Amino acid sequence: MKLSVHSKSFERNVVLLLVFVLISVPLAVAADDYTAARRTMVGEIEADVELTSSYIGADELDQRVMTAMGTVPRHEFVPDEMRRYAYENRPLPIGYGQTISQPYIVALMTDLLDPAPEHSVLEVGTGSGYQAAIMAELVANVYTIEIVEELGSRATRDLARLGYDNVEVRIGDGYHGWESVSPFDSILVAAAASHIPPPLLRQLKPGGRMIIPVGSRFLTQYLVLVEKSFDGVVKTHQILPVRFVPLTGGHD
Ligand code: SAH
Repeated sequence: MKLSVHSKSFERNVVLLLVFVLISVPLAVAADDYTAARRTMVGEIEADVELTSSYIGADELDQRVMTAMGTVPRHEFVPDEMRRYAYENRPLPIGYGQTISQPYIVALMTDLLDPAPEHSVLEVGTGSGYQAAIMAELVANVYTIEIVEELGSRATRDLARLGYDNVEVRIGDGYHGWESVSPFDSILVAAAASHIPPPLLRQLKPGGRMIIPVGSRFLTQYLVLVEKSFDGVVKTHQILPVRFVPLTGGHD
């Protein structure tokens, strides 16, 4: 009798253990898949940074930026059919003719803005919301503007679902910036413009930085770092050639 009670509870424990293993192993494998893929992606970004070190004047990016790249789930920001490519170091289509930028470019642009925990940052071109999430890991507040309503709504939903409550998304034309929450410590423009939008320059704090791809759709575009000094003088530096979707809204 005693033996059979013992063996019943033993059996039950075995069953419980089995159920636990059956449930947790696939979960752990799924989590591991992305963790490993993300680590590989971070390694590829580091390699690209070294390859382009003569352009960017450094052979590594800020450790905080790299930690954010290794943390944010990029697969949550791409359409389902793109998930398996989510950690490849390249841009991916996100619908409406738009793309999520290449991870190396996201990391580089973020790094060039020197994000600090107390900063308030404006992004023009929310797209998937991925770049905003990276920035949100590093600064106090992110304000991001998207011109395609469907993309803006999807990004708003995804960012909220993932708990990024320090990001505010607005649908509109980012050329004009976001006056009511300006000025910004830094501004990141994720679509190529023919010129630096004057409203964005005005909304940048003295001592602030802006990163923006400048050039036309078919000719070479350059990533340009804009620095506004404390006495209001603006200096620009061409960093490296890039390829972005155009800033729309008709401001040429
Ligand atoms: N940062 C994005 C990449 C977006 S691609 C990401 O991490 O996924 C550039 C985005 O800029 C596109 O979604 C495009 O619709 C948007 N865009 C283009 N012109 C714009 C404008 N004038 N104002 C706001 N968004 C604009």
